[in-house]
Amino acid sequence: MSEYKIATKCIHAGYTPKNGEPRQIPIVQSTTYKYDSSVEMAKLFDLEASGYFYTRLQNPTNDAVAARIAALEGGVAAVLTSSGQAANFFAIFNICSAGDHVVSSSAIYGGTFNLFNVTLRKLGIEFTFVNPDCSEEELNAAFKENTKAVFGETISNPSLQILDIEKFANAAHAHGVPLIVDNTFPTPINCRPFEFGVDIVTHSTTKYMDGHATQVGGVIVDSGNFDWTKSDKYPGLTTPDDSYHGITYTERFGKGAYITKAVVQLMRDLGSIPGPQNAFLLGLGLETLHLRMERHCSNALKVAEFLKNSDLVSWVSYPGLEGDAQYDIAKKYMPKGTCGVISFGVKGGREAATKFMDSLRLASIVTHVADSKTCVLHPASTTHRQLTDAQLEECGVKSDLIRLSVGIEDAVDIIADIAQALCQATA
Ligand SMILES: *Cc1c(COP(=O)(O)O)cnc(C)c1O
Repeated sequence: MSEYKIATKCIHAGYTPKNGEPRQIPIVQSTTYKYDSSVEMAKLFDLEASGYFYTRLQNPTNDAVAARIAALEGGVAAVLTSSGQAANFFAIFNICSAGDHVVSSSAIYGGTFNLFNVTLRKLGIEFTFVNPDCSEEELNAAFKENTKAVFGETISNPSLQILDIEKFANAAHAHGVPLIVDNTFPTPINCRPFEFGVDIVTHSTTKYMDGHATQVGGVIVDSGNFDWTKSDKYPGLTTPDDSYHGITYTERFGKGAYITKAVVQLMRDLGSIPGPQNAFLLGLGLETLHLRMERHCSNALKVAEFLKNSDLVSWVSYPGLEGDAQYDIAKKYMPKGTCGVISFGVKGGREAATKFMDSLRLASIVTHVADSKTCVLHPASTTHRQLTDAQLEECGVKSDLIRLSVGIEDAVDIIADIAQALCQATA
């Protein structure tokens, strides 16, 4: 499978039916699996044999879809989670505990910012947030003795800042820690984080991967490239796990250590798995991901060009737009395109923004992005409303920012809808 192009992997990776088996990934809607003897079952519990015993740990539908995403990212292993929030939580918590520290880009999703800044702090994990545009010196200065990971978003939601992946990877590796990135917006179709030195990738699969707004889900993918054994920073991976008969993950599972630990320890104890039905829907979405991303990007470019030329719009940010401040960095890390999300401000500020949104007919107001239907959101009054103005500024979210998620309808219809709503908002 690894020699196939990414479009082929979208459709075939992770599941190869044998003679007479279902052509499509079957939904194994079963909590448990039957064995003929207790000895066989015991071996599974001891991780001495591989096989299914309880869906909280493993399920054939979930595993096939996780394997498909691992193949798309070019990683060695992946685990599905019940949401993108769970994916980012587990990605950090798998290698950090109370007393540890993480360096994170400040341009991240509001939910992730709260997870880090509030909930993980309560668990004793400290964060230093850095502006992704900071200098190498500033970035290096954020590290501490107890730093265990670096985190960023390849394209931040909703501020659309593109991470200088190599700058962050170099700093992480110089301090002996992995770089974890959330690759939700570009997806592996448009951005290949592992090729630029990223060690672990997460996604909210709720967005483009599913693509149809049918399920909330997440995934963690390991590149297999980070050597956990070269320091004593990761005792959870490199010393015996008493809660698993003293197995040492790096010894027993090699490049699969990080994902195996996330499954058998974190999923065992915290249990945030997706239902097999949801995993199936995600798998179905992945089959057209390559086609949809292409159309999202070409539609978004047309819409961004329209907005840029409109007298009723005060500013437009779309990294794929020639002349955009991030155009060059976007071309470097995402040569095929970025994603379908555009942010812009309507002339007349907050009030005009609200009127614009209420005047749309085709595009809908939803707390969602990145699916087939064009949708809009005003982050300052919805997803980011818990943040103070100063925190908003830090996340790169202006109070008049409208996040427009361009769908895969005909671009002519999308633009006509925006045009009429702009006229009404600024009348
Ligand atoms: C939506 C989103 C999340 C959270 O994912 P859920 O599936 O809603 O839990 C995390 N990161 C990014 C970049 C997102 O867009």
